[in-house]
Amino acid sequence: MNVKLLNKEAWSLAKLAIASLILIFATGTSLSAQTEVKSDGASGVQDALPKGRKAVAIVDGQYPESYFPNTELLGTDEMRITALGTGMPNQTRSAVSISYLVELGNGDKFLFDVGSGMLANLFSLRPDFEKIDKVFASHLHVDHVGDFMGVHIGGWISGRYTPIHLYGPTGSKPELGTKAFAEAMQKAYAWDLATRSGALPDAGAQIEVHEFDYKQMNKVVYQKNGVTIRSWPAIHSLDGSVSYSLVWNGLKYVFGGDTYPNKWYMEYAKGADVASHECFLPPKALAAYFGWDLAQATYVSTRIHTEPTAFGKVMSALKPRMAVGYHSVQSPKNNAAIMDAVRKTYDGPLALARDLMVINVTKDTMKVRMAVIDDYVLPPDVTAGYKRAPRSDTKETSEFIQSGKWKGYTPPPMPKK
Ligand SMILES: [Zn+2]
Ligand SMILES: [Zn+2]
Repeated sequence: MNVKLLNKEAWSLAKLAIASLILIFATGTSLSAQTEVKSDGASGVQDALPKGRKAVAIVDGQYPESYFPNTELLGTDEMRITALGTGMPNQTRSAVSISYLVELGNGDKFLFDVGSGMLANLFSLRPDFEKIDKVFASHLHVDHVGDFMGVHIGGWISGRYTPIHLYGPTGSKPELGTKAFAEAMQKAYAWDLATRSGALPDAGAQIEVHEFDYKQMNKVVYQKNGVTIRSWPAIHSLDGSVSYSLVWNGLKYVFGGDTYPNKWYMEYAKGADVASHECFLPPKALAAYFGWDLAQATYVSTRIHTEPTAFGKVMSALKPRMAVGYHSVQSPKNNAAIMDAVRKTYDGPLALARDLMVINVTKDTMKVRMAVIDDYVLPPDVTAGYKRAPRSDTKETSEFIQSGKWKGYTPPPMPKK
């Protein structure tokens, strides 16, 4: 049941490794504990897998040291959390903007934030897009929702034939809320949506927005299939930023979004198995990286966001089974600065997230590792349900545009359906 705290000696050793690998984790100590996994008939294993792939059950909590997507059955009592983006708006190839994918043993999948750049990481897992239809936005900064239309349309092309559901907060004015954001996105992408509508399943074009009061205190925003997701306010830039908790099967995951340390998080994140919270660059490192003066860097790092010693204080008080820090410009130097600062105030189980870090959680086990992906991985296969889903007529370009076709080329005949 217990995850051992990293002791001082282990921590010293771990520090040596962070220049090349930021991932620091405390593995479950009860590897012999049974992880209940069923190989057939369980809803948690019903994902459409790529052709030729067969996923296997994890026995006795003995996970491979790396996660190879679509090779492991997710146990019916198990949660898998994958960091799809852990960086900043000015991202790098190794750290794109914020997003987490949460997969449950009941077959449900949830995205928490869909920051710019996360899409390639999502596709690299080759997921069953039929099930990726729920996005929970913490706030409307581009590094948290910038890839929403990419997820919507990319998923619609890749297997989702039902509406996508976007959950997110109101703002202080209607135009600053999630509903206004989604409506504006649909208008901005009117041409794109018009080109695909009819050729792709009709229902997949729809966005269903579920906007809720950003001030609500630990109230339910989603409840279905044994999963309860609640929200509470966060303190960040303007009103209209929130944090979430997801509870299922006795497991609790908390997604902090962006926030200054706040009393609501301390209250409603209690009992988290995995508590994620931003852990920004410390002021000096931020100033050096961006070329800002120290006053501006201090303001951003310690007033708008949560710097590492503050993150450590939050986690020392909260005591989750696993603390996850994210949202920084990742480089060996910066990562070392963050880790040093966190460890001044927190010595518990810690994973400083990097893109494609994976956490498997059951009541007895906690495994943190990295996913191994192929840069050229194919898009996922679509299901029979996707192929059968109703599509309205296709459309064509105008006679004027048709008349411009070069006579020097004749396309091959269309194959029979
Ligand atoms: Zn933000
Ligand atoms: Zn942010």
